[in-house]
Amino acid sequence: MGREFDAPGTHRLTVAYERDGVRAAEASAAVYVWQKHEPILVVDVDHTVANTRTRDLLSLSGTEQSQPLPDAPEVLRELARSFHVVYLTGRPRELIPKTREWLQRCGFPAGPLLTWDMDRHPWSQADFKRERIHDLQDHFDAVRIGIGDRGYDRKAYSKRKLFTIMLDDDSPKRVNNVVYLPDWSAIRELFARNPQLFSPKLRRDEPVSLPIR
Ligand SMILES: [Mg+2]
Repeated sequence: MGREFDAPGTHRLTVAYERDGVRAAEASAAVYVWQKHEPILVVDVDHTVANTRTRDLLSLSGTEQSQPLPDAPEVLRELARSFHVVYLTGRPRELIPKTREWLQRCGFPAGPLLTWDMDRHPWSQADFKRERIHDLQDHFDAVRIGIGDRGYDRKAYSKRKLFTIMLDDDSPKRVNNVVYLPDWSAIRELFARNPQLFSPKLRRDEPVSLPIR
């Protein structure tokens, strides 16, 4: 089976269970095959790409009615031409189907969704995210950029030496190498002004010019 997934790209793996010739159950998953050197962007979900309505998440059934943050799907689709996008969220793994469906319905680019598993992962969000990024960095050389909204995102991204972008209500600023921007259109502008952000050698302290607001 392994050889079929050697080629770079997105593959679909389907596992079916048949009983007496009748298909009784089926599950399928996307398998992403990326080259080791290709740049990867890590992005949080709640309040980073989703204006999350928590009560929709509490029930495991039903669809999520949260709205995407303005411009988030479009800007991430643009960035997905240059980066592989990994969604790294503190949402529990039980919410994977709901979250995947929401990301797809809202027009976000495809990418692996890494969730929190209470049986396996640290309870601290900063530690959980830091460990998952570390795992990614064990396999890929250019996990370079992190976008989030909370202090624990900032901590995890900074500890793993990502160029860190935080959504924040204030005007654009850079403090301790972290870039704070008010919205996704400012994120688009940051990338437009700074082609060095696309370099696989990007460092977390890379000098950049900030959008003007
Ligand atoms: Mg968040």
